[in-house]
Amino acid sequence: MNTNLTDRVRLIEEAARANDDRYQLLDRIEYPDGIRMAVNFTLDFDAMLLRRLLNEPVPQRAQGEFGGRVGIWRLIELFDRHDVKATIFTPGRICELYPESLKAAAASGHEIAEHMWEHQVPKERELAQDHLRRSTEALEATVGQRPVGTRSGYPNADLVEEGYLYNSHGAAHHLPHYMADKTGVWRVNLPFHFAIDDAMFYSFAWLGSDNPAQRITEPGRVMDMWWDAFEQQYEAGGYLNICMHPFVSGRALRVAALGKLIERMKEKPGVWFPSCREVAELVVERHPMVEI
Ligand SMILES: [Zn+2]
Repeated sequence: MNTNLTDRVRLIEEAARANDDRYQLLDRIEYPDGIRMAVNFTLDFDAMLLRRLLNEPVPQRAQGEFGGRVGIWRLIELFDRHDVKATIFTPGRICELYPESLKAAAASGHEIAEHMWEHQVPKERELAQDHLRRSTEALEATVGQRPVGTRSGYPNADLVEEGYLYNSHGAAHHLPHYMADKTGVWRVNLPFHFAIDDAMFYSFAWLGSDNPAQRITEPGRVMDMWWDAFEQQYEAGGYLNICMHPFVSGRALRVAALGKLIERMKEKPGVWFPSCREVAELVVERHPMVEI
């Protein structure tokens, strides 16, 4: 085994040891009468924050900026037109960079949720708690409503302390479920998967992959894949969480393709386009967690 591989195996072993997550999975979601499945459109409004964190070259960071200046507005307009309630996971610093877009989205009835202060959870617990408080307060001050959802890796105990109802990360199951971390605290999780994530198909070198390992896919093909995922879940009465980034999906031809996908979904009876908060509240109400 070469050194590089040995290091990687060691990292995987450490990660496995550090992961004390436990799950309570659901067989099905008991939707309100007339509803067959829920589709959550979720936006990770990272703009240039993740790009800066990864120390990417300036042109990559500028792509992130497009998300804040243009992409987010196009997507809000698209969702408004189709009466879809999106959930926008927002780093706290976006409140300093693009507050008007958040206000406009909230005014249209979209949910503004938390996505870390600067797109990272510090290892030091106290610093992480400080970041969570800062982003929560910044979002509340900007849109006038305290967030109840997050897409982050904060400890569950700290999320409960700040009043969070759900997290939306990980792919332990295709349906919403309960998840406990090493703090022993349980929380609703609304899963998504990288196969239903725009950045996997519309980027070069996403998260440091080699360019040849990741090529840009044409929007029609991406929508076909997501349609197949939707149909499969529709037949099963399931759930779909489509993860997008305004700097990625906010490009004009991708917005147009997304519009066609939404129209196609709306032709099927019983498709619900709620915010993540609505799904999390439904799960808590109709599928209460079993105390273990
Ligand atoms: Zn993000």
